[in-house]
Amino acid sequence: MAPSPSTDDTLSRLRGPIAPQPYTARKITALTANPGCARRAVLDAAGVDKNALAARVGFDARFGQSPFAISRGNAFEELVKADGYAALFTLLRTELDVPVREAGVADLNTVGQNPDLKLRAAETRRLLGRVTKGTDERLILDHPVLTLQVAGQTAYLEPDAVTHRIGGRFYIAEIKSFAAIDGQADPGKVAEAAKQAAVYVIALRQTLLAVGLDAQAAADAVADQFLLICPKDFANQPYGRLVDLRQKLDAIEFQLGRLDRAEDLAAMLPADASFDLSEGRDGRPARTGRELADALDDLTAAYSPSCLDFCELAQYCRDQATTACEPARLGTSVRNELPGVDSTRTALGLIDAALEPDPTQADIVERLRAADRLRARRIGGVA
Ligand code: SF4
Repeated sequence: MAPSPSTDDTLSRLRGPIAPQPYTARKITALTANPGCARRAVLDAAGVDKNALAARVGFDARFGQSPFAISRGNAFEELVKADGYAALFTLLRTELDVPVREAGVADLNTVGQNPDLKLRAAETRRLLGRVTKGTDERLILDHPVLTLQVAGQTAYLEPDAVTHRIGGRFYIAEIKSFAAIDGQADPGKVAEAAKQAAVYVIALRQTLLAVGLDAQAAADAVADQFLLICPKDFANQPYGRLVDLRQKLDAIEFQLGRLDRAEDLAAMLPADASFDLSEGRDGRPARTGRELADALDDLTAAYSPSCLDFCELAQYCRDQATTACEPARLGTSVRNELPGVDSTRTALGLIDAALEPDPTQADIVERLRAADRLRARRIGGVA
């Protein structure tokens, strides 16, 4: 009997010949925002470009950071790390009250000019091992590569920096380009940065396990705060403050534990399903938009209006949910109130008794009819 294909084989076949898009902290926070969505879990595990896929199936979302925001962020990060990381050292001294004059920096953007993620992850582990043994106690890691298990896959993640140990603990430092005006940054942007930092904290703890620490020691070795660095007021002067992560850590750890294995989800797809976005030599796409949409539809989605905040495929899934009259189109709370009711048409049929409820739907029918009576009274009162 022929051996069954490995997970990597299955996922790379689904993606086709285009290079995979890696997991990022931003992708992982989006995944954990909707852990019941098999569609996104498989596409992210396979490294499919969801922006390009959305465009190919007719919903050009143009989702994500603008090129302008990305280049502004890169320029600010260069400023923070200029002159031998002078601004970073100053912020560590003022915010964490530690002497940092003699601290060193290991630049892990490459290893011997080689940017390979696995190589950089191995070098990160080696250096973390030295720091935890006290050999390189004062070493700051610039763009280390941490590993995290996500839906059964290994994600390679790059925080901007991991500080040397301060009071026995590492701190994640994240450099963002949004401004803090009079010491206040946009709360929504800070919350998003905190979610990503929480992913890095969890990944650093997992990486420390691989270095040989036990679970308690790994948890204790990483602070549950992170150092947020952003421009101050309307100048480009770096400003920093510590942000608490405890709630975010609990929430993301819980949601990571709820993700199904992408391998098992992908195995449910038909053998000819593919998200191949490549073109042949003649410029013709390997798969038509219709074939790509069919493959998408073979994966169960869990649409809710909040998808519009974080997922490149939200317009596609919303259109599908609207066509099918899914209760989730009206919000997660409506979906949760109507378990087993597949459409708002069914809900209306249950209200006016055009449909016979099954025995398990008695409570739902009662709630629907009570809501209908309330609505009728409200309308009558207004009239
Ligand atoms: S938009 Fe679609 S694919 Fe993305 S998380 Fe929501 S349901 Fe899943």
